This record gives sequence, C-alpha cells and structure tokens, in this order.
Amino acid sequence: MKVIDLRSDTVTLPTDEMRRAMYQAEVGDDVYKEDPTINALEQLAAQMLGKEAALFTASGTMSNLLAILTQTHHGEEVLLGSESHTFWYEVGGASALGGVVMHTVPNSQDGQIDLSMIEDSIRSQNIHFPQTTLLCLENTHNRCGGAVLTADYTSNAAEIAHRHGLLVHLDGARIFNAAIALNVPTSELARDVDSVCFCLSKGLSAPVGSVLCGTHEFIESARKWRKMIGGGMRQAGIIAAAGIVALQTMVTRLVEDHDNARRLAKGLSNITSIVVPHEVQTNIVNFETPLEVSGPDFIQLLNTRGVKIGYRGYNKYRAVTNRMVAADDIDEALNRIDISLKELY
Ligand SMILES: *Cc1c(COP(=O)(O)O)cnc(C)c1O
Repeated sequence: MKVIDLRSDTVTLPTDEMRRAMYQAEVGDDVYKEDPTINALEQLAAQMLGKEAALFTASGTMSNLLAILTQTHHGEEVLLGSESHTFWYEVGGASALGGVVMHTVPNSQDGQIDLSMIEDSIRSQNIHFPQTTLLCLENTHNRCGGAVLTADYTSNAAEIAHRHGLLVHLDGARIFNAAIALNVPTSELARDVDSVCFCLSKGLSAPVGSVLCGTHEFIESARKWRKMIGGGMRQAGIIAAAGIVALQTMVTRLVEDHDNARRLAKGLSNITSIVVPHEVQTNIVNFETPLEVSGPDFIQLLNTRGVKIGYRGYNKYRAVTNRMVAADDIDEALNRIDISLKELY
C-alpha cells in the first residue's frame, strides 16, 4: 500500500538532480562569505525576489525571527495577522528572543488583514503604548488555506505602514505558489515590502533552508543577528546547491500541486458529510467533518489506511498537495477518506 502523505509539502524529498548538485557543490567557509554556492544562491534569490541582497538561513522560522530582530528594538510592537504562522507556530521567538509585543489583528478568510484595521491598530504617541514599528504579512497564507495576497493588496498595506513610519516584512514561505497562482513575477508580490523570506524546503523540494531578502544594509545587519543566534554555517553550500536547483527547476511545476489541490477539494466536497469551506487557490486544502466524528479517530483510521493529513482541532483538517503525490494518488486518497468516514459516521 502506497502511503499518501498530505500533511505538508515539507515532506518532499530532494530530486536526483539536487543530490548530484550537492555532491558536486563547490564550497568554502560562508562565515567568511567564501562559499561560492551560497553566494550564487543568495544572488539568484535576491534577483528573483527583486531585492538587493539575500541571506541563506536554516529555516523559515529563522528568517522570520531575523526579519523581526533586525527591524525592531526590544519593547516595540509588531502588527501581524491573528492567523499568522509567526504568531502560531514559531514558538513565540519574536517575544522570547526579540522582546517585542506581538499585536495580532484579525485575518479575514482570504489571508488579508483589513486595511483600515491595520491603520487603526498602529499606536499613536501616548505614554501608555509600545511603539509599533513593523507590519508582517503572509503570502500564501498557511492557516487561511493557502490564500494568496495580490500585489495590489500588499502595496496598499505597505503604503499605510510606511506612511506611519513602520517597516514591512512579508513571510513568503510559499510566495512562489502565490506567484504561480496569480501568474505574476514573484518580485511583483514583494515590490513594496522591506524584507521578504521564502522556504526552499516546502513545495520546492530542497532538503533544508530558507532565504531572507532585502536591502544590502538590512541583509548585513541580519547576517550579524544570524551569527548571534548560532546560524552562521560553514560549508553550507552543500545544502545551498539543492536550493539553486529548487529555484531553477521546481517553481513552474507548482501548478501541478495546485491542480491536484483543486482535484482533492472537488472530490472532498462530493463526499456528502465533508465540507470544504472555501475555494482552493494554491496547494492547501482545508476541510471539515461532522462534529459527531472524532477528529483524532478519523486521523488514526486514515493513518492505518495509508493517508496522512493534518488535524487542526474542532473537526478541521488540512491537506497539502506536493510533488510526492500524483493525480491518481489523490483519487486513491479520496477513496480511502470516503471509506474511513463511512466507517465512523
Ligand atoms: C512553514 C512556514 C514557516 C516556517 O518555515 P520552517 O522552515 O518550517 O521553519 C513560516 N511561515 C509560513 C507561512 C510557513 O508556512
């Protein structure tokens, strides 16, 4: 029985081409900026995101943390979506390590934060308030089911933030999914933000890594912060080599993941007891089962039938299509989901 793993696109394994590139990578000590493969990856990433410079980091979590450490001071406040990955899943690092207050503003279903709410949430000068200095956006939006933010929305949000003296960071862990879904250059989606990061190890299938992009000055400062938190790596060109292959060969194929996600969503909504609450825009499918079904039992039964999905609590589930799962695997997964649910409901 083939296990169909839809828990995340992080389960994607490196391709043969990536492994060859890793084996052959020319490397050096990156703390001295002497790893040619890292330098090449950073240059390529900066160019694709339309920024001056870039920094290779261990993870998306590290990139977001560096963006906050570099662009805020202790005791200041960051505005971010109530459903944002940084608020939910990054261990509170911004507060624990950066000493900043995370001021959440409600995300709407489409991953946006209402523009007037952004403006209203920025603190005025008042002795009681922390100073608001950074706005964080997320594209695609993970907890909002892979929703995309358009370049227009991002520009409008950035304009408000900048007008009030804030900087803007974009958590673009899956920004290439957004660019493919919107059919626009990735750089357009990051045009008006001060910093942006993306993951190499999700849909792009590289084994490790993320890249943070921004101005030369910002990146040099982030490099120092990266060293402080122990992220200064040496011959890490070994892993950056796979990242270069990811950027060169794995972006356009994301359209297959999106097609499979729509196929999955359509199949799920044909199962009468399942609700797919919103339109699927990229590779993430959120769905719900009736409250009579125990979510953990459903997940466990699916596991024994070789289908892995994520449980979000309250009978809500997440399935993420990825390169390891083909269209016929989606059909097979739908079959196993249908049978399992009939057994429980
Ligand atoms: C996965 C993810 C991250 C963190 O990436 P890691 O590499 O797992 O640390 C950050 N933001 C979003 C939106 C993500 O989906």
